[in-house]
Amino acid sequence: MRIVVSGAAGFIGSHFCDRLLAEGHTVVGLDNFLTGAARNLMHLADEPRFRLIQQDITEPFSIAGAVDAVVNMASPASPKDYHEHPIETLMVGSAGTGRMLDLAREKRARFLLTSTSECYGDPEVHPQVESYWGHVNPVGPRSCYDESKRFAEALTMAYHRKHGVATHIARIFNTYGPRMKLNDGRVVPAFLGEALAGAPITVFGDGSQTRSFCYVTDLVDGLYRLMLCDERYPVNLGNPHEMTILEFAEQIRRLTDSQSPTEFRPLPEDDPKQRRPDIGKARAILDWEPRVTLEDGLRLTVEYFRREAA
Ligand code: UDP
Repeated sequence: MRIVVSGAAGFIGSHFCDRLLAEGHTVVGLDNFLTGAARNLMHLADEPRFRLIQQDITEPFSIAGAVDAVVNMASPASPKDYHEHPIETLMVGSAGTGRMLDLAREKRARFLLTSTSECYGDPEVHPQVESYWGHVNPVGPRSCYDESKRFAEALTMAYHRKHGVATHIARIFNTYGPRMKLNDGRVVPAFLGEALAGAPITVFGDGSQTRSFCYVTDLVDGLYRLMLCDERYPVNLGNPHEMTILEFAEQIRRLTDSQSPTEFRPLPEDDPKQRRPDIGKARAILDWEPRVTLEDGLRLTVEYFRREAA
């Protein structure tokens, strides 16, 4: 297949391109490098089946030739990034997603949207199932991301219903691994960076809020399977192994042999209290579940951060 991927230079986007190329496909990557980095794709410089185009997908663009699949991954995704770029975040989910859907329609290509567990907001249903409509503050600090992705989901369903585009929607839960930015503010790079530097580990709130962390290659495998199946409604992809942020800090300390103390900081507004995917649907229709343990995944991530720091 020939596949167009927006957000190709991002953390998950670059790993997804690697997987597509490993499966023998040809990839056209688009990125405006707002939060992605060309160096995430440097290893593909001599790959004849890969091409990277600098493109803001909220602006008009065209792709010559046949396209079999369109994958829309472009968006700031860490709370720090979308707080810095709230308007870009809303525009890429709305106008950008619209242009990617137009491309899929024009080329009669299948379409995959990478959406988010943030669609559930601060969830009152636990674990989160796809049929839950969510508990989202439409005007809070996270709203630029949450509503952007909710709009993108609605637009995707509209193109399917109105124009018959073969669409797919993944709701991605917390994912980690190599190529995350060290300074993107998310808990995995934040804690690892602090532990490796011997600096205090900054726990927001009392650390009783929970998250469930999925290693990036597991996530990418789920995305690949979803792109090839016939499901139109959202599918959760993530690791159901849930822990508190305090427990996570402890695990990071153990893994890095760090003596870093814990430093408590104020909890950001609207920080979800709990998050764990129900992956029953992905298990049933994709025959998928995560395989990499948190310990193994974190070791691979630590190696990457050590290399980066050096
Ligand atoms: N968090 C923390 N310290 C940090 C960064 C994040 O305690 O330095 C917490 C944050 O408040 C949240 C969780 O870790 O409860 C996950 O945050 P992250 O920014 O990684 O992603 P989120 O799941 O909130 O989108």
